[in-house]
Amino acid sequence: MMYLEIMGPPGAGKGTQARRLSAARGIPHISTGEMFRENIRQATDLGRMADEYLQNGGLVPDDLVTDMVRDRLSRADCRDGYLLDGYPRTPAQVRDLDGILSVRGWERTGVLLLEVSEEDVLRRLAGRRICTGCGHVSRLQALSGGGGCPECGAEMSQRDDDREDLVRERLLVYRRETEPVLAIYQERGILRRMDGMGTEDEVFERMLNILEVLA
Ligand code: ADP
Ligand code: ZN
Repeated sequence: MMYLEIMGPPGAGKGTQARRLSAARGIPHISTGEMFRENIRQATDLGRMADEYLQNGGLVPDDLVTDMVRDRLSRADCRDGYLLDGYPRTPAQVRDLDGILSVRGWERTGVLLLEVSEEDVLRRLAGRRICTGCGHVSRLQALSGGGGCPECGAEMSQRDDDREDLVRERLLVYRRETEPVLAIYQERGILRRMDGMGTEDEVFERMLNILEVLA
C-alpha cells in the first residue's frame, strides 16, 4: 500500500516524475491540475467553475477541489494506493484530506517534496511545451526544427498558465498558500525533501531510493 503525495513549486517536475512512478508501481497518478484542465476541455460544470481560477494563476476554492479528490479516491483503482500530485495545496486541504483518509482507514506513506529554485522554475516553464495529441512534455530546446511531438508528431503548445506573468503569480500563491502545507508535514515528520535538479532519470532514481526506505 502506497499512499503518496508529491509536492513542489510549479515547474518542479512533479507531473513528469509522478507519471513515471505511477507506471513503475502500478498506482494511479492523480493530478488535480490535469483533472481541471480535462474538465475545462470537456466544458463540464466543474470545468466552467474552475476555469477563471486557472486563467488567473490562482487556486480553485478548497471545497471544489476536495469534492473532486474525495470522489476520485473512492474509485476502486485507489485501493492499493495512489500518487496525489497537486493536492493538498493549502492547510485547509490538508485537513480535508485527513478526513477523507480517516474515513477510509488509510494513512499517508509519505510526502515527497521536489526542491527547485525559483530561478530554475522560471527558466523551465518558459521553455515547457506540451503535446496537444498525447500530452508528452518537452523543452523547447529539445524540439527539432519542425517542432512536432517526438512521440506522436502532433503539434506542441504552451500551457495557457505558463505565461511569465502567470508563472510569477503561481509562485507567489505557492509561497503564500502551499509552503504552510510543507511546514505541517515537516512537523508531522513525513516530509521527504529531494533535490529536483538534474536529469529526469537522476531525479527518478532519487525518488526510488526514498521510496525504498518508506515502503
Ligand atoms: P502547477 O503545479 O504547475 O502550478 P497544476 O497542473 O498542478 O500546476 O495546477 C494548475 C492549476 O490548477 C493551479 O494553478 C490551480 O489553479 C488549479 N489547482 C490544481 N490543484 C489545485 C488545488 N489542490 N487547489 C486549488 N487549485 C488547484
Ligand atoms: Zn504527442
